[in-house]
Amino acid sequence: MIQDIYPSKLRNEYFNYDIKENDYLLVFDKDGKILAGEDEGKAVFLKGKDISDDAVYLFSVDETKFFLKIGNQEIRKEGYDYYSIRDARDRFSKKDVFIIFTGYHLWKWYSDNQFCGKCGHRLDLKESERALVCPECGNTIYPRINPAVIVGVIKGDSLLITKYRTGFAHNALVAGFAEIGETLEETVAREVMEETGVSVKNIRYYKSQPWGMAQDLLVGFFCDVDGDGQIHMDENELKYADWVKREDIVLQPNNLSLTNEMMKLFKENGLSHEE
Ligand SMILES: [Zn+2]
Repeated sequence: MIQDIYPSKLRNEYFNYDIKENDYLLVFDKDGKILAGEDEGKAVFLKGKDISDDAVYLFSVDETKFFLKIGNQEIRKEGYDYYSIRDARDRFSKKDVFIIFTGYHLWKWYSDNQFCGKCGHRLDLKESERALVCPECGNTIYPRINPAVIVGVIKGDSLLITKYRTGFAHNALVAGFAEIGETLEETVAREVMEETGVSVKNIRYYKSQPWGMAQDLLVGFFCDVDGDGQIHMDENELKYADWVKREDIVLQPNNLSLTNEMMKLFKENGLSHEE
């Protein structure tokens, strides 16, 4: 999965570092595209020496520090292009994609929170922690992560496979955001019912995954069908939903997503279910 970059490690503790000339600098344009060069499939990012604008510390990978460019100075550099997050996902190494997704999540939060939601004053960076603070009314804003579930619904030796109506074109599982006032297990049952009309039981946690592309924390669950598993697909959300036998499951082109790992696990091993 995207976050599995061992022996490297993402260190996300916040420090109020100043950027040095050899630290890396992540630059996103107003549409959230990342500025990068390419060297044999590896992303090449700008460095601190490339800018005169402000930068905020994001995280480190091992001993390498990454910063985010803030401010409105537009940057162009020969040999570098702006790539959408989706393009970057297909183009660069897994470690680079994790860096880009995580940087994007933080960029999106900084970018969407320039002004106080209470009084409209421009927000300042808080020095002691990862937060934005309003100098006028004291309102403090922390980074937001959206919890969402990925659900592998099992019926004997088949898995409930879906395809989204728009966006990602490959096979997927039922997925959806937690709504206010429910547990993740309730999200699982509600999303499967809403998208496919199927009732589920024996909901069990599998693994989780940070997914900065959509500012998510994805939480994977397997569960068993309850009843005959007749599908009534929500055509606003999906263009395909069906029970697919293990041997017929077509995986995604790479193994970055929790969804793909769950499909792969079921395809290769099956999973014990109630019988
Ligand atoms: Zn305010």
